[in-house]
Amino acid sequence: MYGLSSEDLSWQDRARDLADALIPHEVEAEIAGGWLTAEVHAEHHEQAVARGLVATNIPASAGGRGCTMLQQVLVQEQAGRVTNALGWVMATPPAWWVDVATDFQRERWLLPTVRGEQVECYAITEEHAGSDVADLAATARRDGDSYVLDGEKWHVTSYNEASYAFVQAVLTDGPHAGEHAMFVVDLPSPGVRVVRTPTYSHSFAHQHPIVAFEGVRVPESHRVGAEGEGMVFAQEWFRFERLMVAARCLGAADRLVEEASAFASGRMIGGAPLAERQLVQAMLADSLTELFAARSMVYETARGVDAGQDRKVLHARCSMAKLYASEMAGRVADRAVQIFGGRGYMRENVAERFSRELRVERIWEGASEVQRVIVADQLAKRGLRALI
Ligand SMILES: Cc1cc2nc3c(=O)[nH]c(=O)nc-3n(C[C@H](O)[C@H](O)[C@H](O)COP(=O)(O)OP(=O)(O)OC[C@H]3O[C@@H](n4cnc5c(N)ncnc54)[C@H](O)[C@@H]3O)c2cc1C
Repeated sequence: MYGLSSEDLSWQDRARDLADALIPHEVEAEIAGGWLTAEVHAEHHEQAVARGLVATNIPASAGGRGCTMLQQVLVQEQAGRVTNALGWVMATPPAWWVDVATDFQRERWLLPTVRGEQVECYAITEEHAGSDVADLAATARRDGDSYVLDGEKWHVTSYNEASYAFVQAVLTDGPHAGEHAMFVVDLPSPGVRVVRTPTYSHSFAHQHPIVAFEGVRVPESHRVGAEGEGMVFAQEWFRFERLMVAARCLGAADRLVEEASAFASGRMIGGAPLAERQLVQAMLADSLTELFAARSMVYETARGVDAGQDRKVLHARCSMAKLYASEMAGRVADRAVQIFGGRGYMRENVAERFSRELRVERIWEGASEVQRVIVADQLAKRGLRALI
């Protein structure tokens, strides 16, 4: 189906095998607030590296797997079948960095991350700048051959696991004053402090603390790209990550349809399997139909990337894919809870976990409203025929 090549199917199988091996650990992770023992966590990471499922998005020239975008989607779809972010071991380091990393940055951070030896995190969002990234308040002040960073960043995912952070800040002086630049800050570094670590709806071992950067000095060699280019990388990242969010939502919906329909087939109510009740059949049919629509859309968008289609058109399509797949997965999870009944409200149940975990897919990497604005903007600029 979907015109997948034998190589595509082999990536899909490899990722599915790992996802299937992770699934039995979900309930233990859920009950422990997301945590597994260090040994089990390390084993999962080693499995992902050994199966070639880390850095599928990085070109072979930089030590990655050099997968097509469609293959990356197939891998992330399988990662999305697993709750509690256990599938995140199939990590995708920052591919946008490959072209702009200096030799120093490549050796020190990029290549070790591609090998799975280091973990990055992104410190971009702030208390008063989320959807509107252009409105950042964090500053980067030039001081000799260094910069001094000051600001407070919110929701810094994986900070507790990370070896370094990408920090985006506004330049205070020089020819690019007022524009953005991105810097790599080693963790820990003097002046970097966790303000607090809020708890979130989901139970993930990856925390999202609020982090203060107070007079953090970084040499010029830690600046990624040129002054004023900070937003360029953020846009690159959004386009890629929105498609990967959509892919993981496909995996979640696939798992939910599979588990809810298996439950409905076995659950007897009034002498007949639940799956024979037409109101339940409608929920399953709607879920399957929407999953099929979303999958066709996401695979087609990935093929467009592989075919080198226009970046702006792809920007809109990635937004459409993320918008539709994340909202679809939310509806599928809600129906699955309903089909499971009281069991669907228990944290040991996959539908309960996904119904909480999937909520953020409509918020991060651009809320649904932001995706709609992007799509409508591109429609106005390029017209219907260019986009679909
Ligand atoms: C669990 C989690 C992990 C995260 N990880 C990271 C991370 O690692 N690094 C990082 O930098 N950030 C991270 N974020 C931040 C995330 O990207 C932002 O939360 C998101 O972009 C929304 O920004 P905001 O929360 O400030 O909401 P706001 O910008 O305040 O928006 C609030 C709501 O307003 C609506 N809205 C916004 N803009 C428009 C518009 N133009 N038109 C109509 N309605 C609109 C939307 O409904 C939106 O949800 C994370 C967030 C969460 C919850």
